[in-house]
Amino acid sequence: MSGTNPSSAAENRPGVPRKGVGNDPREQHRDVAEAPGKIWFRDLDEAVIEADRCVQCASCVAACPSDSIGIDAEEGRPTLVRMCTGCSRCWDFCPRSGLRYERHLELAREERALEEPATYAARADDAAAAAGQDGGVVTALLAELLEAGEIDGAIVAREREDEPLRGEAVLATSREELLEAGGSIYNQTMGLGRIDELLADAELGDDPDLALVGTPCTIQGATALDRYDHAPADPIALTIALLCTRSFEHDRLVSRLESFGVDPAAVDRLDVSDGRLRAVDESGDTLLETPVDEFDAAGLRGCDECADFVGDAADISAGSVGSADGYTTVVVRSDTGDSAWEQAAPALETTAIDRPSVLERLADWNRRRAESTLPREFDPEGSVGISYDRHREAYDGTDREPEALNPARVHQYEEWC
Ligand SMILES: Cc1cc2nc3c(=O)[nH]c(=O)nc-3n(C[C@H](O)[C@H](O)[C@H](O)COP(=O)(O)OP(=O)(O)OC[C@H]3O[C@@H](n4cnc5c(N)ncnc54)[C@H](O)[C@@H]3O)c2cc1C
Ligand code: SF4
Ligand code: SF4
Repeated sequence: MSGTNPSSAAENRPGVPRKGVGNDPREQHRDVAEAPGKIWFRDLDEAVIEADRCVQCASCVAACPSDSIGIDAEEGRPTLVRMCTGCSRCWDFCPRSGLRYERHLELAREERALEEPATYAARADDAAAAAGQDGGVVTALLAELLEAGEIDGAIVAREREDEPLRGEAVLATSREELLEAGGSIYNQTMGLGRIDELLADAELGDDPDLALVGTPCTIQGATALDRYDHAPADPIALTIALLCTRSFEHDRLVSRLESFGVDPAAVDRLDVSDGRLRAVDESGDTLLETPVDEFDAAGLRGCDECADFVGDAADISAGSVGSADGYTTVVVRSDTGDSAWEQAAPALETTAIDRPSVLERLADWNRRRAESTLPREFDPEGSVGISYDRHREAYDGTDREPEALNPARVHQYEEWC
């Protein structure tokens, strides 16, 4: 693969009429007014965001060279904030459209220096273990790296003060801030798309080294940017993926909890593991414990197309599955991950993972779900870029086909796209 984008722009010009946009003047002049190969944010919006397939990884926000994509404050989704140049890059780096993520993961595996990933069960000392979701390993590891000067900060997530259970991305630069941000937030926080903004407030100098923590799709975007473009991923020195079968849309998650009679403000901790969702209050009393399937409708629909449960492109992955309660399952895959792990070792109690077969079974299940849901072929050997035309061929006529823009936003696109 050469060039700065994973897909071949020449293949990409849409020849398929778009749904429901017959009165749009831009559409009427589309074939003559545009240079060949252009894909606009509007195309991504219709194919992914309006089609309710966006997994809020923020790769498109980070990839845009003209900072044309922002993050909608209410919905937490990407949105156009200024003129789009049709450079195609948001499309090319989106794991729900132009980026064939399974090929990217295959390439990441081939590039890796460690032959076999190392898997552990581990737990941190008391403070990080108490703050963390499982063994507090991610918090402890980041704190050790910060204090050793190996990283200058970590992009993590914490609950917003003004809204129960809604997470926001933060740049933690001290152990205290990391402890405050311990635990899992079950909605996406778009940290990859907020690096510049977070750095602008942090005074970390010209060339900071950051750790990025996120769901596997976020790490796919960050590592694809690192391979093909570098600039947006330049500050990222270490990637940590949180094992993930599904993230949730915040408002739908909160409404669903309410439908079970749970006040979201009373929830101190949510946990999804072993197929169950548990909500616990500050004194440790269980407010709700139920099969997580009951929350299917609150999940992000695009997650069903994701086969990357373990976060295979990350330097290190962390989850709960396979280890005893109070321990974190950790997978270390790269030289960078290995040196970070060595650095943190004195602060961790490490043992062998209890049930490796459970980890493998869940990864297999996740892959089967993706293969049966994806309207396109699942092809780890295919081209890493998926053109707009090919996407339309596979998705049109399915329940995941592109949707016309929300009419409230059409006028803005006529001006900017
Ligand atoms: C949406 C989601 C789904 C998950 N699903 C599974 C699963 O199915 N199976 C499984 O084994 N594990 C799953 N996990 C991972 C698990 O919940 C723990 O995060 C993991 O075991 C690490 O535990 P820890 O105690 O070592 O981490 P901690 O010490 O608690 O550190 C976690 C770090 O991650 C950051 N963080 C938390 N949520 C987010 C977020 N949404 N985006 C970015 N950063 C975040 C925190 O700020 C903190 O720095 C999921 C996590 C998330 C966020
Ligand atoms: S899935 Fe990620 S890259 Fe694609 S539109 Fe959503 S936020 Fe952007
Ligand atoms: S299931 Fe996949 S797409 Fe959904 S949040 Fe997790 S990593 Fe992202």
